[in-house]
Amino acid sequence: MAPSLTPIRSHHVAVIGAGAAGLVAARELRREGHSVVVFERQKQVGGTWIYTDHTEPDPLSVDPTRSVVHSSVYGSLRTNLPRECMGYRDFPFVVRSGVSKSRDQRRFPSHGEVLAYLQDFAKEFAIEEMVRFETAVLKVAPAVEEGTGKWRIESTEKEKKELRDEIYDAVVVCNGHYIEPRLAEIPGISSWPGKEMHSHNYRIPEPFKDQVVVLIGNSASADDISRDIARVAKEVHVACRSNAADTFIKRSGYSNLWMHSMIECVHQDGSLLFQNGKTISVDVIMHCTGYKYHFPFLETNGNVTVDDNRVGPLYKDVFPPEFAPWLSFVGIPWKVVPFPMFELQSKWIAGVLSGRIPLPSKEDMMIEIKTLYSTLEAAGIAKRYTHQMGITQFEYNNWLASQCGCPETEEWRKEMYFKTGARKRAHPETYRDEWEDHNLVSQAYQDFSLYP
Ligand code: FAD
Repeated sequence: MAPSLTPIRSHHVAVIGAGAAGLVAARELRREGHSVVVFERQKQVGGTWIYTDHTEPDPLSVDPTRSVVHSSVYGSLRTNLPRECMGYRDFPFVVRSGVSKSRDQRRFPSHGEVLAYLQDFAKEFAIEEMVRFETAVLKVAPAVEEGTGKWRIESTEKEKKELRDEIYDAVVVCNGHYIEPRLAEIPGISSWPGKEMHSHNYRIPEPFKDQVVVLIGNSASADDISRDIARVAKEVHVACRSNAADTFIKRSGYSNLWMHSMIECVHQDGSLLFQNGKTISVDVIMHCTGYKYHFPFLETNGNVTVDDNRVGPLYKDVFPPEFAPWLSFVGIPWKVVPFPMFELQSKWIAGVLSGRIPLPSKEDMMIEIKTLYSTLEAAGIAKRYTHQMGITQFEYNNWLASQCGCPETEEWRKEMYFKTGARKRAHPETYRDEWEDHNLVSQAYQDFSLYP
């Protein structure tokens, strides 16, 4: 095939956020020849992996005027993916020779090791020189008067109070999706006297000593936090919408941890009734019910909306057709292996912006999006699951890889993801310390030897 004659164009690109998504977006954009400014409101790279003891003053995190604490990481958190699977494709998450012995060398390490890995990544690729730290983006809007596709960004630095107003050719949004809590609806909650909170504000179990705690949810957080709290609490009960109405199961290995169906209602006297008919008196209800996509700075005249947690319209979860390729999002899909996917999305965005990789017409992108929406609707899948991938993530990654001209997802990574998931379901207590996929680990390390 004849090489493309399209000249490669370089653009001035703003990246919002220096978490795992923004770091790799910045690297790929610069590799492609774009000039990049990364806006980061915290004072270091790493996003949600920057653990802090601080929590928000509003334990449910619903007050729009609250001062936001970005991280949702709790003290005992260890990754739920093995490090070989989790890392960027060309910067493996391995224990590097020469790093301090104090680093957590476990296969499913603690949050601090993930942060250290992201810091290593930023250092290796000199990302920090592109980052404006302690600088919050307040507004992103089309700068129509400056020419088609341009964006106006208003930002403010912590120390200097004045607004900075700048024009960019393109914006890549990498602001993270674990700060704006979703809450379960509980009949009677307005007159219930107990304490309510969201897992976003959970850090350590000690404050729950001798208390009766009900957690809502069936995600990794509900699973981890219920076990964490059960070490000190009087009783821990997990309520879950997807459990059958008669569910009432004692967790093996614990004297004080039960699984239930969803909460039916709560009462003024502090009691709580589950759908399974059990009533208990409760001190704390913790919503481990996930988060909403939230782009408080983005002004698009209704061209990009969040509707029941569907961000749209987005072509391939990345480009809104109305603004493509000048506005893009990294990290929208969930139930995925995030870092390698961020890497592929970023490569695609960088190549599309430079004109090396073509995009379909606006109309064709819209047709594909509408077809996806109709397929979901016909299958009875609610809007809020639009960006859930799970099993389809590897097909998606391979499509991105084909656009970028890079190799598909490694077979070992796919298999490791599925095997870990199965082991986690079967052995939630021990899957992080005992495993059987030794052959996959060897294959991973063979691949990693390509990246000294
Ligand atoms: P973030 O890490 O949230 O980064 C976003 C950045 O944008 C932040 O630094 C923030 O300060 C900045 N920002 C936001 N708004 C603005 C603004 N207006 N102006 C300037 N800067 C802004 N993934 C795994 O791979 N393995 C795991 O085991 C795992 N466990 C997890 C456990 C928990 C409790 C949570 C919450 C997530 C977990 N994840 C895990 C998913 C994790 O979120 C992703 O791996 C990844 O870190 C997300 O990166 P991000 O860059 O999209 O977002």
